[in-house]
Amino acid sequence: MRFKIINTVIIFLLCGALVLTFFGLTSFWYVLTFIILYLLFLLTVSTNVRFNFFVNSISENRNIINKQVAITFDDGPVENTLEILKVLKKYEVKAGFFCIGKHIEAQPEIFRKIIEENHLVGNHTYSHTRKMGALPVSTLVREIEECNRIAEETAGIKMNLFRSPFGIVSPKTQKALQKTGMQSIGWSIRSFDAVLSSEEIILNRIKKRLKPGAVILLHDNNAKTVNILEQLLLFLKNNQYEVVRPDKLLEINAYS
Ligand SMILES: [Zn+2]
Repeated sequence: MRFKIINTVIIFLLCGALVLTFFGLTSFWYVLTFIILYLLFLLTVSTNVRFNFFVNSISENRNIINKQVAITFDDGPVENTLEILKVLKKYEVKAGFFCIGKHIEAQPEIFRKIIEENHLVGNHTYSHTRKMGALPVSTLVREIEECNRIAEETAGIKMNLFRSPFGIVSPKTQKALQKTGMQSIGWSIRSFDAVLSSEEIILNRIKKRLKPGAVILLHDNNAKTVNILEQLLLFLKNNQYEVVRPDKLLEINAYS
Protein backbone atom coordinates (compact mmCIF):
# COMPACT_ATOMS: atom_id res chain seq x y z
CA MET A 1 0.00 0.00 0.00
CA ARG A 2 2.79 2.40 1.04
CA PHE A 3 4.69 1.56 -2.16
CA LYS A 4 1.58 2.14 -4.30
CA ILE A 5 1.01 5.60 -2.77
CA ILE A 6 4.66 6.66 -3.12
CA ASN A 7 4.87 5.25 -6.66
CA THR A 8 1.69 7.11 -7.70
CA VAL A 9 3.04 10.38 -6.24
CA ILE A 10 6.41 9.88 -8.02
CA ILE A 11 4.73 9.14 -11.38
CA PHE A 12 2.49 12.20 -10.92
CA LEU A 13 5.54 14.40 -10.17
CA LEU A 14 7.41 12.91 -13.15
CA CYS A 15 4.54 13.65 -15.53
CA GLY A 16 4.47 17.23 -14.22
CA ALA A 17 8.25 17.55 -14.66
CA LEU A 18 8.06 16.17 -18.22
CA VAL A 19 5.37 18.74 -19.09
CA LEU A 20 7.59 21.52 -17.65
CA THR A 21 10.53 20.12 -19.70
CA PHE A 22 8.35 20.14 -22.86
CA PHE A 23 7.63 23.86 -22.38
CA GLY A 24 11.30 24.54 -21.61
CA LEU A 25 10.57 25.51 -17.98
CA THR A 26 13.01 22.98 -16.48
CA SER A 27 16.04 21.01 -17.65
CA PHE A 28 15.68 17.43 -18.88
CA TRP A 29 18.80 16.60 -16.82
CA TYR A 30 16.96 17.43 -13.57
CA VAL A 31 14.22 14.99 -14.57
CA LEU A 32 16.77 12.29 -15.48
CA THR A 33 18.61 12.78 -12.15
CA PHE A 34 15.27 12.45 -10.34
CA ILE A 35 14.50 9.17 -12.18
CA ILE A 36 17.96 7.74 -11.40
CA LEU A 37 17.64 8.69 -7.70
CA TYR A 38 14.21 7.02 -7.51
CA LEU A 39 15.59 3.84 -9.13
CA LEU A 40 18.48 3.83 -6.62
CA PHE A 41 15.95 4.24 -3.80
CA LEU A 42 13.94 1.23 -5.10
CA LEU A 43 17.13 -0.83 -5.38
CA THR A 44 18.04 0.01 -1.76
CA VAL A 45 14.65 -0.81 -0.23
CA SER A 46 14.25 -4.01 -2.28
CA THR A 47 17.58 -5.45 -1.12
CA ASN A 48 17.28 -4.58 2.57
CA VAL A 49 14.38 -6.03 4.57
CA ARG A 50 15.24 -3.76 7.51
CA PHE A 51 13.67 -0.74 5.80
CA ASN A 52 10.23 -2.41 6.03
CA PHE A 53 9.22 -0.72 2.78
CA PHE A 54 7.74 -3.55 0.72
CA VAL A 55 7.39 -6.14 3.50
CA ASN A 56 6.63 -5.81 7.21
CA SER A 57 9.61 -7.59 8.74
CA ILE A 58 10.65 -7.93 12.35
CA SER A 59 14.39 -7.26 12.47
CA GLU A 60 15.07 -6.49 16.15
CA ASN A 61 13.31 -5.76 19.43
CA ARG A 62 13.82 -2.11 20.34
CA ASN A 63 11.84 -2.53 23.57
CA ILE A 64 14.52 -4.77 25.09
CA ILE A 65 16.60 -2.88 27.64
CA ASN A 66 18.55 -5.84 29.05
CA LYS A 67 21.69 -7.00 27.26
CA GLN A 68 19.93 -9.68 25.23
CA VAL A 69 20.55 -10.52 21.57
CA ALA A 70 19.64 -13.34 19.16
CA ILE A 71 21.82 -15.19 16.67
CA THR A 72 20.40 -16.53 13.39
CA PHE A 73 21.94 -18.73 10.69
CA ASP A 74 20.84 -18.89 7.05
CA ASP A 75 21.31 -21.40 4.21
CA GLY A 76 21.57 -24.78 6.00
CA PRO A 77 21.18 -27.50 6.94
CA VAL A 78 24.52 -28.76 5.63
CA GLU A 79 27.41 -30.81 7.10
CA ASN A 80 28.95 -27.63 8.54
CA THR A 81 25.77 -27.04 10.58
CA LEU A 82 26.93 -29.87 12.88
CA GLU A 83 30.05 -27.86 13.78
CA ILE A 84 27.89 -24.80 14.49
CA LEU A 85 25.63 -26.92 16.72
CA LYS A 86 28.67 -28.15 18.70
CA VAL A 87 29.75 -24.57 19.48
CA LEU A 88 26.21 -23.54 20.45
CA LYS A 89 26.01 -26.55 22.77
CA LYS A 90 29.39 -25.75 24.35
CA TYR A 91 28.17 -22.26 25.29
CA GLU A 92 24.61 -23.44 26.07
CA VAL A 93 23.12 -21.02 23.56
CA LYS A 94 19.89 -21.38 21.53
CA ALA A 95 19.78 -19.84 18.05
CA GLY A 96 17.60 -19.65 14.93
CA PHE A 97 18.19 -21.50 11.65
CA PHE A 98 16.48 -20.34 8.44
CA CYS A 99 16.65 -23.46 6.32
CA ILE A 100 16.50 -24.04 2.57
CA GLY A 101 13.90 -26.68 1.58
CA LYS A 102 16.17 -28.61 -0.79
CA HIS A 103 18.87 -28.72 1.88
CA ILE A 104 16.36 -30.15 4.40
CA GLU A 105 15.57 -32.84 1.79
CA ALA A 106 19.29 -33.61 1.47
CA GLN A 107 20.06 -33.47 5.23
CA PRO A 108 16.89 -34.52 7.13
CA GLU A 109 18.90 -35.86 10.10
CA ILE A 110 20.70 -32.55 10.60
CA PHE A 111 17.39 -30.67 10.34
CA ARG A 112 15.89 -32.92 13.04
CA LYS A 113 19.00 -32.48 15.19
CA ILE A 114 18.63 -28.67 15.08
CA ILE A 115 15.08 -29.04 16.40
CA GLU A 116 16.00 -31.73 18.95
CA GLU A 117 18.59 -29.37 20.41
CA ASN A 118 15.80 -26.82 20.87
CA HIS A 119 16.92 -24.27 18.31
CA LEU A 120 14.37 -22.43 16.20
CA VAL A 121 13.87 -23.26 12.51
CA GLY A 122 12.34 -21.03 9.86
CA ASN A 123 11.61 -20.98 6.13
CA HIS A 124 14.29 -19.74 3.68
CA THR A 125 12.41 -20.88 0.50
CA TYR A 126 12.79 -24.19 -1.30
CA SER A 127 15.51 -23.33 -3.81
CA HIS A 128 17.09 -20.07 -2.56
CA THR A 129 17.02 -18.60 -6.04
CA ARG A 130 18.86 -15.38 -6.91
CA LYS A 131 15.83 -14.39 -8.98
CA MET A 132 13.71 -13.61 -5.89
CA GLY A 133 12.92 -10.07 -7.07
CA ALA A 134 11.70 -11.25 -10.49
CA LEU A 135 9.50 -14.19 -9.45
CA PRO A 136 5.71 -13.99 -9.82
CA VAL A 137 3.58 -14.30 -6.67
CA SER A 138 2.51 -17.86 -7.57
CA THR A 139 6.15 -19.05 -7.75
CA LEU A 140 7.03 -17.29 -4.48
CA VAL A 141 4.07 -18.99 -2.80
CA ARG A 142 5.25 -22.35 -4.18
CA GLU A 143 8.82 -21.70 -2.92
CA ILE A 144 7.48 -20.97 0.59
CA GLU A 145 4.91 -23.78 0.70
CA GLU A 146 7.34 -26.40 -0.61
CA CYS A 147 9.86 -25.56 2.13
CA ASN A 148 7.07 -25.68 4.75
CA ARG A 149 5.83 -29.04 3.46
CA ILE A 150 9.30 -30.63 3.60
CA ALA A 151 9.90 -29.27 7.13
CA GLU A 152 6.58 -30.69 8.31
CA GLU A 153 7.19 -34.10 6.68
CA THR A 154 10.73 -34.24 8.07
CA ALA A 155 10.14 -33.07 11.63
CA GLY A 156 6.38 -32.64 12.12
CA ILE A 157 6.53 -28.88 12.64
CA LYS A 158 4.57 -26.04 11.02
CA MET A 159 6.90 -23.08 10.57
CA ASN A 160 5.57 -19.53 10.92
CA LEU A 161 8.71 -17.52 10.23
CA PHE A 162 10.23 -16.64 6.87
CA ARG A 163 13.46 -15.00 5.81
CA SER A 164 13.88 -13.91 2.21
CA PRO A 165 17.04 -15.12 0.40
CA PHE A 166 19.64 -12.35 0.01
CA GLY A 167 17.22 -10.03 1.84
CA ILE A 168 15.52 -9.34 -1.50
CA VAL A 169 11.88 -8.26 -1.18
CA SER A 170 9.24 -6.73 -3.44
CA PRO A 171 5.48 -6.04 -3.31
CA LYS A 172 5.12 -9.62 -4.62
CA THR A 173 6.92 -10.96 -1.54
CA GLN A 174 4.38 -9.22 0.69
CA LYS A 175 1.50 -10.80 -1.29
CA ALA A 176 3.11 -14.25 -1.07
CA LEU A 177 3.54 -13.86 2.70
CA GLN A 178 -0.10 -12.84 3.10
CA LYS A 179 -1.23 -15.87 1.08
CA THR A 180 0.91 -18.29 3.09
CA GLY A 181 0.38 -16.62 6.49
CA MET A 182 4.11 -16.32 7.16
CA GLN A 183 5.90 -13.60 9.17
CA SER A 184 9.03 -12.08 7.63
CA ILE A 185 12.09 -11.96 9.90
CA GLY A 186 15.03 -9.71 9.09
CA TRP A 187 18.16 -8.85 11.05
CA SER A 188 19.71 -5.75 12.57
CA ILE A 189 23.35 -6.86 12.24
CA ARG A 190 24.51 -8.24 8.90
CA SER A 191 27.89 -9.88 9.44
CA PHE A 192 28.73 -10.44 5.74
CA ASP A 193 30.38 -13.71 6.81
CA ALA A 194 29.49 -15.18 3.41
CA VAL A 195 31.16 -12.29 1.57
CA LEU A 196 34.12 -10.97 3.58
CA SER A 197 37.21 -13.15 4.04
CA SER A 198 38.70 -11.56 7.20
CA GLU A 199 37.30 -13.06 10.41
CA GLU A 200 38.56 -10.02 12.32
CA ILE A 201 36.65 -7.56 10.09
CA ILE A 202 33.47 -9.69 10.34
CA LEU A 203 33.71 -9.86 14.14
CA ASN A 204 34.39 -6.14 14.45
CA ARG A 205 31.33 -5.37 12.28
CA ILE A 206 29.17 -7.33 14.70
CA LYS A 207 30.79 -5.94 17.87
CA LYS A 208 30.41 -2.32 16.71
CA ARG A 209 26.69 -2.74 16.03
CA LEU A 210 25.77 -4.68 19.16
CA LYS A 211 22.93 -3.37 21.31
CA PRO A 212 20.09 -4.84 23.38
CA GLY A 213 17.43 -6.49 21.20
CA ALA A 214 19.72 -6.99 18.18
CA VAL A 215 19.36 -9.90 15.73
CA ILE A 216 22.65 -11.11 14.22
CA LEU A 217 22.83 -12.74 10.78
CA LEU A 218 25.40 -15.49 10.13
CA HIS A 219 25.56 -18.44 7.69
CA ASP A 220 25.86 -22.04 8.90
CA ASN A 221 27.06 -23.24 5.46
CA ASN A 222 30.25 -21.22 5.88
CA ALA A 223 33.28 -23.04 7.38
CA LYS A 224 34.88 -19.91 8.88
CA THR A 225 31.62 -19.02 10.66
CA VAL A 226 32.35 -21.80 13.20
CA ASN A 227 35.37 -19.92 14.54
CA ILE A 228 33.64 -16.54 14.22
CA LEU A 229 30.73 -17.90 16.28
CA GLU A 230 33.02 -19.17 19.03
CA GLN A 231 34.82 -15.82 19.28
CA LEU A 232 31.51 -13.95 19.19
CA LEU A 233 30.02 -16.07 21.98
CA LEU A 234 33.13 -15.49 24.10
CA PHE A 235 32.89 -11.74 23.50
CA LEU A 236 29.17 -11.71 24.36
CA LYS A 237 29.81 -13.69 27.54
CA ASN A 238 32.67 -11.41 28.62
CA ASN A 239 30.47 -8.37 28.02
CA GLN A 240 27.50 -9.75 29.99
CA TYR A 241 25.31 -10.25 26.91
CA GLU A 242 22.75 -13.05 27.05
CA VAL A 243 21.93 -14.87 23.79
CA VAL A 244 18.28 -15.89 23.62
CA ARG A 245 16.30 -17.75 20.97
CA PRO A 246 15.00 -15.33 18.29
CA ASP A 247 11.31 -16.05 18.99
CA LYS A 248 11.89 -15.24 22.68
CA LEU A 249 13.79 -12.03 21.87
CA LEU A 250 11.20 -10.90 19.30
CA GLU A 251 8.22 -12.14 21.38
CA ILE A 252 6.63 -14.08 18.51
CA ASN A 253 5.53 -17.68 17.81
CA ALA A 254 7.92 -19.72 15.69
CA TYR A 255 5.40 -22.48 14.96
CA SER A 256 1.65 -22.94 14.65
ZN1 LIG B 1 20.26 -17.25 2.24
